[in-house]
Amino acid sequence: MHELSIAISIIEGASQEALSRGGAQVHAVHLKLGALSGVVKDALLFSYEVATNGTMLEGSRLVIEDVPVVIYCSECQAERRLKSIQQFCCPVCGALSSDVVRGRELELVAIEIEEVEEIV
Ligand SMILES: [Zn+2]
Repeated sequence: MHELSIAISIIEGASQEALSRGGAQVHAVHLKLGALSGVVKDALLFSYEVATNGTMLEGSRLVIEDVPVVIYCSECQAERRLKSIQQFCCPVCGALSSDVVRGRELELVAIEIEEVEEIV
């Protein structure tokens, strides 16, 4: 399963980050997931739960932030959020565009760990 290997790489990345901060208990891992990333969110959540078993991330949550698809419309000269990923056209003027600005993300944005409280 595609999502399982992605979950494992997320876990590896987050584990390294936690270790670099003194090996604290990880509460949650935050991920940005674009609508065009090709990853099925539910499958990824399930894979994460399975793959964290027996690791230092066991019991932590995977928090996924959905990133909508945004294209650049050359007619409007503006960024537009797509209504559907089936149609790559501007929702305002209808022009076709394949210039994807956002929506392919699959990135680890943050981890929440026990020891270090984020004091700003
Ligand atoms: Zn437009």
